[in-house]
Amino acid sequence: MGEITEDRWAAATGALRTAVAAGDPILLVCHVNPDGDALGSMLAVGQALRKLGATKVQATYPGPSALPEPFLVLPGLDLLVDSPEAPVLMVTLDAAAESRLGAYASLLGEVPTIVLDHHASYTGFGDIPLVDSGAAATAVVAAELISRLGVPLDLQIAECLYIGVITDTGSFKYALTTPEVHRLAADLLETGLDPGEISSRVFDTRPFGAVKLYGEVLSRAVLEPENRLVWSAASLADLERHGQAPYVLEGLIDGIRCAAEADVACLLKQVGPAEWSVSMRSRGGVDLSRVAVALGGGGHRAAAGFTGYGTPAEIMDRIRIALGE
Ligand code: AMP
Ligand code: MN
Ligand code: MN
Repeated sequence: MGEITEDRWAAATGALRTAVAAGDPILLVCHVNPDGDALGSMLAVGQALRKLGATKVQATYPGPSALPEPFLVLPGLDLLVDSPEAPVLMVTLDAAAESRLGAYASLLGEVPTIVLDHHASYTGFGDIPLVDSGAAATAVVAAELISRLGVPLDLQIAECLYIGVITDTGSFKYALTTPEVHRLAADLLETGLDPGEISSRVFDTRPFGAVKLYGEVLSRAVLEPENRLVWSAASLADLERHGQAPYVLEGLIDGIRCAAEADVACLLKQVGPAEWSVSMRSRGGVDLSRVAVALGGGGHRAAAGFTGYGTPAEIMDRIRIALGE
């Protein structure tokens, strides 16, 4: 937690304790299309605040309304609401830019806001930033906050934090997998959680139709050796043909990025007639946070994304230009 000062921690824990003591509504908001880190961090903090005595803590995200199936058994889902009551304090999680909060961004400036995040591309919104770009996951920051609030880990909180950590470290493979991350994982396992079951459920259990879809998208991958680039695209028609929900495409970038001839991998996932959610990965040499911000998105050095408009060919042209700048 090197980048977060003691003053910041004190301000955040103080604001939360005051709101809990007063019985004020506290709203937790994570980023649109939540992943395991966004949702896991949010539900962990929500459950910890309840243990601290909060009676009015609610959690939400800007959409889509249906959560990916692997998350439907997460502890703390009862914190989620579609139409939260007006909060006195807001906490945002794993969102690096206001745009990632959808309509909830309008509360910024009106409601004091604590920001829990770990993106290199964090834009500076909110009042009390608990943001550490050296943290492997927002869940790592959330675990520190929960500890500083004096709430002991239980199985439910630990499961949520664990899902955040394994999602964003690629199950302890990526560069920010520090000794601190492993010590946190050890603390989480001490609560008795079952890492094999969680991992299998969250990453390794998909309908057979998804397997066939992966085969098609991977077989269409294009290698551009001169650009050290590999990419593919999955359309809404592909999803429909195989009867699959969009969430099954999360993680498919890992099947593409292993191409040795490329330094950068991209997967374009169609979300509308001319709208694509773009995942990008680098081997570390290319700073994709910069590239993604240039294209209207954000992320980390080795993993970033943005929303692209037009055809896949047009979006790839923009990526090649941004990579060259
Ligand atoms: P993903 O490829 O969806 O796993 O996302 C990789 C990283 O890029 C995550 O840290 C995301 O927060 C970030 N990211 C993905 N899409 C966007 C977007 N449209 N805007 C901002 N950041 C994004
Ligand atoms: Mn995320
Ligand atoms: Mn994250």
